[in-house]
Amino acid sequence: MTENFRPAETEPSVETLLTHAGRRPEDHFGFVNTPVFRGSTVLFKTLADLEAQTQHYLYGRAGNPTTDGVETIVSELEGAYRTKLVPSGLAAITIALMSCLETGDEVLISDSAYEPGRKFADGFLERMGIGVRYYDPRSGAGLAALMGPRTKAVLAESPGSLTFEVQDIPALAAAAHAGGARLIVDNSWASPLYHRPLALGADIVVHAGTKMFVGHSDAFAGTISTTEAAWADVERIRTLLGFFTSGDEAFLVARGLRTLAIRMKEHQERALHIASWLERQDEVSAVLHPALPSHPDHELWKRDFTGSGSLFGFVLKPARREAVAAFVDHMQLLSMGFSWGGYESLCLPVNISRARTVEPWTREGNLFRLHVGFEGLEDLKADLAAALERYARAR
Ligand SMILES: *Cc1c(COP(=O)(O)O)cnc(C)c1O
Repeated sequence: MTENFRPAETEPSVETLLTHAGRRPEDHFGFVNTPVFRGSTVLFKTLADLEAQTQHYLYGRAGNPTTDGVETIVSELEGAYRTKLVPSGLAAITIALMSCLETGDEVLISDSAYEPGRKFADGFLERMGIGVRYYDPRSGAGLAALMGPRTKAVLAESPGSLTFEVQDIPALAAAAHAGGARLIVDNSWASPLYHRPLALGADIVVHAGTKMFVGHSDAFAGTISTTEAAWADVERIRTLLGFFTSGDEAFLVARGLRTLAIRMKEHQERALHIASWLERQDEVSAVLHPALPSHPDHELWKRDFTGSGSLFGFVLKPARREAVAAFVDHMQLLSMGFSWGGYESLCLPVNISRARTVEPWTREGNLFRLHVGFEGLEDLKADLAAALERYARAR
């Protein structure tokens, strides 16, 4: 908090947290922002200091004031005991998983989870002698029946960032805890502004900070926020593996976070506007957006979320590959690219069938994912309308 910022009796609003948490101008000659700290070596004055190891910083790999600032903000937002900033969203997932698992254990992963996280489980955890099973994202309390004696971690992503199933976090947490496992939730879509999984029973929350926190498609970061009970294992594994985030990257995350509330509000309104518009277009057979009443998990979303993100899916009527190419290849404003969360809109065709192992993806037609950025809404609709016309002609 800034020096003269005193939280009122009631909890400060997220807007106030975002503008005042995690910076101490009085430590930096009054400059508003914490500067970029670049540093490996931290000096000790005396032998006694070296031996005592009690000074705040010992070696740069454990963090510096720039990374600490980001961690403070995210902890406040998530209501977490502590947060660690790591080099990418994927690193947040891998460290969180490894903090719960050892050889002989097993992990249950939502079938909707971020694909590189699945690849880590299949390609690395399996090699380390850890069992990997996938579960239907809509399992909820049904997870209890899937828990095995060695299940020590459950990974959820709500909503799934390609298919947008909302997961029942309280039910998953209850089932995981009853079986002696920790629940890890990827909260990248809603950000902590619109969904707080720790308050719903999760043990660990991860973010692809690369997306909404950074907000400008120009840096990588991940965060891991935990309860007090889960913290020591996360920090131990991160330390052992040597993950470190530079002050340069941390500065960009902090800069992005300052405007997260107003960006999320704009993203939410714009995405909903475009999603509702798409629902009325002839070529569109479904829009997958949890905040729309047509979404199968809408009631669950209303129960557990206070807002929605920039990202949603839509399905176009069945057509050959040429029609998909006609749709995306000549867009003027929307571009194709992985990632999301920046100021620019993105539209990505998704090949979901090969990413599913629990239940085959049976929805007919071509799936796309849209990230709605800050272009004019009429311009975006014109771009999409022209693309839909090309699709219809090529179909
Ligand atoms: C992008 C993404 C990640 C991974 O983040 P990186 O910083 O790209 O490693 C994890 N989860 C979700 C939901 C994502 O969209």
